[in-house]
Amino acid sequence: MDDSDATSALERAKERDADDELAEFRERFDVPDEYYMDGNSLGPISTDAADSLENAVSEWRELGIRGWTESDPEWFHYGERIGAKLAPLVGARESEVVVADSTTVNIHKLVGSFLDARDDDQPPGVLANDLDFPTDHYAMAAQLRQRGLDPDEHLLRVESADGRTIDADAVVDAIEENDVGIVFMPSVLYRSGQLLDVERITEAAHEHGAYAGFDLAHSVGVVPHDLHDVGVDFAVWCSYKYLNAGPGAIAGLYVHERHHDVEPALAGWWGNDKETMFDMALDFDPAPDAGRHQVGTVPVLSAAPLDGALDVVRDAGIDAIREKSVALTEFMIALVDDRLAEHGVDVGTPRDPERRGGHVALEHEEAYRLSEALRDHGVVTDFRQPNVVRVAPAPLYVGFEDVHDVVHIIEDILETREYETYDRQSGGVT
Ligand SMILES: *Cc1c(COP(=O)(O)O)cnc(C)c1O
Repeated sequence: MDDSDATSALERAKERDADDELAEFRERFDVPDEYYMDGNSLGPISTDAADSLENAVSEWRELGIRGWTESDPEWFHYGERIGAKLAPLVGARESEVVVADSTTVNIHKLVGSFLDARDDDQPPGVLANDLDFPTDHYAMAAQLRQRGLDPDEHLLRVESADGRTIDADAVVDAIEENDVGIVFMPSVLYRSGQLLDVERITEAAHEHGAYAGFDLAHSVGVVPHDLHDVGVDFAVWCSYKYLNAGPGAIAGLYVHERHHDVEPALAGWWGNDKETMFDMALDFDPAPDAGRHQVGTVPVLSAAPLDGALDVVRDAGIDAIREKSVALTEFMIALVDDRLAEHGVDVGTPRDPERRGGHVALEHEEAYRLSEALRDHGVVTDFRQPNVVRVAPAPLYVGFEDVHDVVHIIEDILETREYETYDRQSGGVT
C-alpha cells in the first residue's frame, strides 16, 4: 500500500470519530492501556461503576446491618432491582431477569432445573456445539451426571465444519435427528465471534419439543436481544465483559415467564418469595418469577458496580452501541484485508455483520507472539488457541482511529518480524 492510501484511511477514521455520537462516553471510563481491545474479556471501570460501588461501601460503613432495608437503594431486593434494570438489554420483562452467582453457576442451575422440568416424553439430550466455551460443557456434563445420565451419550455436539463457525442448518439438523430435550448454545462464539441465529435455533428447538437456552456472555451489552418475544426459554450471561461491571462481578439469568413455575434445582433462601422469606419456614416458598433461581445472599459488593455500569449502557442506548460496534468491526475487517492479509492474517469472524458479535478474530500462525508484542505497544488483545488474536473494539471507549492505529501497529510488527524476539508460548492466563 502506498502512503496516500494510508493517509486516507487515517483521515476516514478521524472523520468517523468526529461524527460519532458515542465518542464522549470514553470520558466516563478509566481505560488502563492506550489501546484497550480486550473488553470482551474484562471491560474497564467507569466513574459510574466506581461510584455505585463506593456508595455500597459507605452505606455498609454507616449503616451496617440496617443497610439491608435503609440503604438507598436497599440491598434486600438488589438482585431483583438490577435484574429489572438489565431486562431491556436482553429484551425481557422485568420479572424474567435477576442477577445472581456466576455464569457457570447459573448454567448449572438452569440446565439442571430445565432437565428436571422435562415432561416424560421429552428426552434428556442436551445439544451443544464443538466450539463452546469449556465451562459451559463442564456444567452441562455435571448436571447430566447428577441425574444418572452419561454425558458421553446425552451431551450432544454440533460439529463445526470449518473450526470457526457453527452452521445454523447443522444445528437444525442435529435437533431433528437426535433426541434433544434442551438446546444450549452461546449467542456469540467466544473465539471466532460468530453471532448465532437465536431466533432460528429457538424455533427449531420448540418445533421438536425441546427447550432453548443461551449463554449471552459475549453479546450482552454489545448486541441487543429479544429473548421474550423470540420465546427463548432461559439464558445466562456475565457482566464483566461488555457490561464493564468489574472482575468476577455478579452474573445475570433470564427465565421466560411461562416457566416461572419451574422448580429451582439449586434452591436457597434468597430464591424464596421475599414476602415470606423472614417467616423462616422450613418449606421453600419460591419467588413467583425468575428471582426464585437465586441461591444465597446477594453479594452486594459484586453487584454494586453493575448498577452504575448499566447507567452508562442505558445512556448510550443498546441500539446505538450495536450500530457503532458493527461500524467498528466493518472498518477493522476492511483494513485487515487491505494491509494484513499479505502478512498471513485471516479474518476468522463472519463477514456478514448480521452474524458477527462485538469482536474480530485475527488468525495468524504467530498469533501468540503477535499478541505478546502488541502488549508492548500499548495494545491489549488476547490470544486464544491455537492461532487467534481477538480484537474487541468496544464501542463505549474505542474509536475508529484506535482501530486504525491497532491495525497499523500489527502491520508493523509483522513486517519487521518483531514478534520473533518474543518467547514461544508456555502457559498461564493470556
Ligand atoms: C466468559 C464466559 C463464561 C465465564 O463464566 P464465569 O462463570 O463467569 O467464569 C462462561 N461462558 C462463556 C460463553 C463465556 O464467554
